[in-house]
Amino acid sequence: MADYILSLDQGTTSTRAIVFDRAGSILATAQREHTQYFPQPGWVEHDADEIWRNARNCIGLVLADAQLTATDIVAVGITNQRETTICWDRKTGKPLHPAIVWQDTRTQEIVDRIAEEGAEQGGVDRFRERTGLPLNAYFTATKIAWLLEHVERIRERAERGEVLFGTVDSWLTWHLTGGPNGGVHITDVTNASRSLLMRLDTCQWDDELLEAFDIPRACLPEIRSSSEVYGRCSVRSPLPGVPVAGILGDQQAATFGQAAFDMGEAKNTYGTGSFLVYGTGTKPVQSEHGLLTTVAYRLGDGPTHYALEGSIAVTGSLVQWLRDNLGMIKSSAEIEPLAQTVEDNGGCYIVPAFSGLYAPWWRPDARGVIVGLTRFINKGHIARAALESTAFQSADVLDACNADAPEPLTELRVDGGMTVNDSLMQFQADVLGVPVVRPVVTETTALGAAFVAGLAVGFWSGLDELRSLWQEDRRFYPSMPEDAREALRGKWREAVSRSFDLA
Ligand code: ADP
Repeated sequence: MADYILSLDQGTTSTRAIVFDRAGSILATAQREHTQYFPQPGWVEHDADEIWRNARNCIGLVLADAQLTATDIVAVGITNQRETTICWDRKTGKPLHPAIVWQDTRTQEIVDRIAEEGAEQGGVDRFRERTGLPLNAYFTATKIAWLLEHVERIRERAERGEVLFGTVDSWLTWHLTGGPNGGVHITDVTNASRSLLMRLDTCQWDDELLEAFDIPRACLPEIRSSSEVYGRCSVRSPLPGVPVAGILGDQQAATFGQAAFDMGEAKNTYGTGSFLVYGTGTKPVQSEHGLLTTVAYRLGDGPTHYALEGSIAVTGSLVQWLRDNLGMIKSSAEIEPLAQTVEDNGGCYIVPAFSGLYAPWWRPDARGVIVGLTRFINKGHIARAALESTAFQSADVLDACNADAPEPLTELRVDGGMTVNDSLMQFQADVLGVPVVRPVVTETTALGAAFVAGLAVGFWSGLDELRSLWQEDRRFYPSMPEDAREALRGKWREAVSRSFDLA
C-alpha cells in the first residue's frame, strides 16, 4: 500500500522534492539550485524550463534515494515561490519569456500609471479593501500586465487562450498533469490571493480588477482550493497516475506546516526573504499598519481561512549578496563564525532595501544603505550587521502585527534556511522580547504542502492529527535588557529612514 506523500517545494533559490511518511518525518530529500538572472538593475528572472527540469529531476532522485517507485506515493503536494510569473504557449509548453521573479521591480511604471488612474480612489491603496494588497510591483498582476505589453503578439494570443499565464504552482501542475496533452491549468486560492486580481471575499477573479490591469480572463488559471485532487500525473511524468492533491504558496505552506491553523497562531519564515504570517480565522482583517491581508488556506469545500502577512524582501539574500557580490564568505553558513569574531555590530547597520522596502514601510523609493561606518568596522561587523538586519526587520513586522491583531503574540514559531543559525535566533528573541520556537522539522514549507495533499486523499484524518505531529526542537528565550533593546532598535529605525528616497 502506498504510504508516502511527495512534496515539491519550488523556492526562489532552489527546488526540492521531499518524501514524508505518516508521522510527518522526512524519508528522503533531493535539491537542485537554479540560475538567478539579473539582466538589469531591479530585474530578477528565472528560466521556467530549468525549474520544470529541476522539479522532474528532483522527483526522480528522491524516489531513487528512498528506494521507492511512483506506486508508493499516495499524492503530490506543491508549494512555490509566490507571485513569480510565467507565460507559456499552450501547444508547445514552452515559456514565451523568462519568468519574472517576485522581487523584480521592472513593473514600477505600470504601478505608477494605475495608481495615477485611480488617484481619487486611493492611489496605491485603491484595491486594498478588495484584495488585501497595496498596488506594488511585487504582485502578479503587474507582471502579467508587463508581459502583455512587451512580448510580441502575446495579447491577441492570450485573448484566444493560446497563451497561458500562471505562477509556478500552475506551471508545475500543468506539466505534471500532461502539459500540452490535457494538463490542467489551475492555481490555488493562496497563490491567487497574491495577484491583485482576486477578490478576498469571493475568492474569484474580479472583472473590475482584470479591466484595471487590462488582463484577459481566458489566459488565467482556474482558482481552486488548497486541498483537493486537481488531476493525476501523466504517464510521461516521473509519477504516473499519482494525484496532485494540494497547493499552497510557500508562506502559507510554512504556516500550515507549523500547524498554525487557527486565529492568533503565527510563524516567521527566514529564507531568501522573510515572511511573518498571523492567522485571523475565517474573516479577513484589514491592516492599519502596513501588513497584507491574504488567504491562509481553504480545504476542499470548507471555509476560507485568512491571515495578516508581513513580507520582507531581503533577509537571507543579503547573506548571499555578501557571498556572491562581495566575496566576503564562501558559503552562507560561514556568516555565523564571521559574525562571532566581534562582540557587537560596532555601530554598523545595513538596511538591505535592494527592491525597496516591503512591510511595514512599503517604500519602493528605498535602496540599500550601510550606515555607522568608522575605521573600526571590519568584515565581522558587516557580517553581524547583515544578520541583525534580518532580526530588526522581523521585529518591525511583529510590532505591526501586534498593533493590528486582537492579541499580541506571546511567542514566535520560526522556520526556513536561516533558522539553523542559533546566534541569529537568539538575537531575534532578544530584539523581540518574546521566545522564539524552532520545530524539529524546519522544512515546514514542504511539510505544509504534504499536509494539504495528504488531507485531500484521506492519508491524514484532519487538523487534530496534523497538530499532534508538530514537535518543538528548541526555544530561544530573550535575555537582553529592555533599554539595550530599545537603544538598538532606535538606531535601526534611524538607519531605515536613511534608505528612503534613494531610487
Ligand atoms: P528559499 O526557500 O527562499 O529559497 P531557504 O529557506 O532555503 O530559502 O533559505 C536559504 C537562505 O538562508 C539563503 O538566502 C541563505 O543565504 C540563508 N542561509 C543559509 N544558511 C545560513 C546561515 N547559517 N546563516 C544565515 N543565513 C543562512
